[in-house]
Amino acid sequence: MIYLGAHLSSSKGFYKMGRAAMAIGANTFQFFTRNPRGAKAKQLDLADVEQYLEFAKEHGIAQILAHAPYTLNACAKDCDLRRFAYETMCDDLKRLAHIPGAMYNFHPGSHVKQGAQAGISYICDLLNRMNEQGHETTILLETMAGKGTEIGRSFEELRAVIDQVEDSRRLGVCLDTCHVFDGGYDIVNDLDAVLKEFDQAIGIKRLMAIHLNDSKNPLGSHKDRHEKIGEGEIGLAAFVSIVTHPKLRQLPFYLETPNDLDGYQREIALLREKAEHEEA
Ligand code: FE
Ligand code: FE
Ligand code: ZN
Repeated sequence: MIYLGAHLSSSKGFYKMGRAAMAIGANTFQFFTRNPRGAKAKQLDLADVEQYLEFAKEHGIAQILAHAPYTLNACAKDCDLRRFAYETMCDDLKRLAHIPGAMYNFHPGSHVKQGAQAGISYICDLLNRMNEQGHETTILLETMAGKGTEIGRSFEELRAVIDQVEDSRRLGVCLDTCHVFDGGYDIVNDLDAVLKEFDQAIGIKRLMAIHLNDSKNPLGSHKDRHEKIGEGEIGLAAFVSIVTHPKLRQLPFYLETPNDLDGYQREIALLREKAEHEEA
């Protein structure tokens, strides 16, 4: 059984997300921990969380993924912006302590011409300080498209981050299919080679989640423009190979395609049908 879900709006709380996930045929979901543009998160409604946890258990919803606001930059030039990223992420972790098993994904950041080395040091500093605060949540670094000065454009850059974190036991990677394709990794023609490269650079055990997005642009474009599944340069066949791959199929998959809930529902049904056909 594949864990397959989509990015859902968190504005109405966890229970509503659980219901929405079930309604579209999903058994997991991703959500923003807060409005990416707004700074302050609403106070966590513990009754809502409790209701959600019960619902999730009853309906087999698991492996959910919290996504940090993409506006945060852990390696900004301005120390106030770096502090803001740190404080926001610490606050997110405190909230996530109430949701057992949820993982926390973030964009490593953009070094804004300070150089990748400096950027990586700032990111590691933030992760080390978060670890000192103590938390149980697994934190995922997302593979990035390499737009502008984004850190995480290559597996080696993520490896460099992991290497400099003192306690990396709760650190993993979320692979975004659009982003790695944008980064020049040919998951269409040579998925096995890409996974081998991931394994050699990072270790396949660190791979803990997948963002399923087609790409509006060809291999190596560094543009980060998501497309609906099967309507972009990656194509449906590659997604079927990904969700059925022996090294990947046990991971949770999240759609971040340009869709409303109906569109997500269609993509989930399509992927499930193709995957079953493939595995039969
Ligand atoms: Fe992301
Ligand atoms: Fe993503
Ligand atoms: Zn993206």
